[in-house]
Amino acid sequence: MSVFDWFKGRLFCDLAIDLGTANTLVFMKGKGIIVQEPSIVVVNKLTGKVEAVGQRAKEMLGKTPTNVLSIRPMRDGVIADFEIAEKMLDYFIKRSTNNRGFLLRPRIVIGIPTGITQVERRAVKDVAMRAKASEVYLVEQPMSAAVGADLPISEPTGNMVVDIGGGTTDIAVISLNGIVFNHSIRVAGNEMDESIIQYLKKKYNLLVGERSAEQVKIQIGSAYPLDHPLTMEIKGRDLREGIPKTIVVDDQEIREALEDVVSAIVNAVRIALEKTPPELSADIIDHGVILTGGGALLKNLDKRIREETQLPVFVTDDPLTTVVLGAGKMLDNLDLLKKIAMS
Ligand code: ADP
Ligand code: MG
Repeated sequence: MSVFDWFKGRLFCDLAIDLGTANTLVFMKGKGIIVQEPSIVVVNKLTGKVEAVGQRAKEMLGKTPTNVLSIRPMRDGVIADFEIAEKMLDYFIKRSTNNRGFLLRPRIVIGIPTGITQVERRAVKDVAMRAKASEVYLVEQPMSAAVGADLPISEPTGNMVVDIGGGTTDIAVISLNGIVFNHSIRVAGNEMDESIIQYLKKKYNLLVGERSAEQVKIQIGSAYPLDHPLTMEIKGRDLREGIPKTIVVDDQEIREALEDVVSAIVNAVRIALEKTPPELSADIIDHGVILTGGGALLKNLDKRIREETQLPVFVTDDPLTTVVLGAGKMLDNLDLLKKIAMS
């Protein structure tokens, strides 16, 4: 690394962070996404010490010995475990800056869930300030998602963003740099995994873990019949015999397993459309609905919502990174950032 590169690295270290229920992402100005890891922390029950964060913590999920505990501090779109959330955020910020501190203290933009309280916002801000930020801006995730999706948020036009994450599906209508309406349900990706677990238990007496269920969802899950049928082998434990068992399931079965979750999401979109002020819903009818968040990757979810709402539906380019990229873009537009940041 040349001295110039080193210096440049120090100059452009402004950060954008997406504090998600399932994944935390960090974007560094001039560099791009430098962290994309699960929002999971493993702590030692006896000492309270953090044993692992992120990817390593996820790998330990369901395999942890009795003296350690894995915690998802951002459950259900709120900060479920304050202290652990702080530790996680602190860890990711320090890792992003190689724990060397800064030559120039960075600006940090943090995308936060719409459901968090004033006290929690304060706490998130404090963590970032203590990690030596010069300025911290908190932006609601639907706003950053909208910016990440290049929607004209500053115009007097209604834009609808549906963010299907791990714990919650957040629907927001944005116009003139603000959230005009938002509706959130605690049904999203995790609930899909849980539904697959229950389905396999009921139909095949097969017990599978969260991670396997997620794999099934990602590989063959869908919200509307597929053009090409898919099947998948699933390994688990037979509940009656107590021994390992392998079965083969197809996309039709998993669609059935996911049906309740999918219809809850579709219904939430319908409710949001009904409650949107008429002038703005006219815009949404014209411009459509934007789907983002990892759940938007469920096969044919866009098709299903299109079918049921008769609206144009689009999925953002890379739904898992839309929020953090939006927050990253705001680093280049301080005027906008100051307008939409929360105190
Ligand atoms: P959050 O913002 O809550 O952290 P993300 O936007 O990171 O959530 O999305 C995480 C969710 O997306 C998880 O439930 C994960 O299983 C799901 N997911 C990721 N990839 C896919 C895929 N290809 N198909 C369906 N769901 C997916
Ligand atoms: Mg998210």
